[in-house]
Amino acid sequence: MTTQTKFCYHCGAHHPVEEMRQIETKAGKRWRCIRSIQATQKTAEARDAFGRQVSAMNTAEARSHARRLNELRQDK
Ligand SMILES: [Zn+2]
Repeated sequence: MTTQTKFCYHCGAHHPVEEMRQIETKAGKRWRCIRSIQATQKTAEARDAFGRQVSAMNTAEARSHARRLNELRQDK
């Protein structure tokens, strides 16, 4: 029994076809391993979560900054 492999454009290596997905790219249909697809999805999710955290922090910072400015004005 021979295991059929496909060339994974992401890893630059061959993987068993059962671990591969054919996906549509700008360059046409290409094979990519499921593992690298999932790794990329996790990275994208982590990036989104980080972006939400940063914007929440920025909002809190902007609010406390505005409060400080108001307090300064009231002192005078
Ligand atoms: Zn791969």
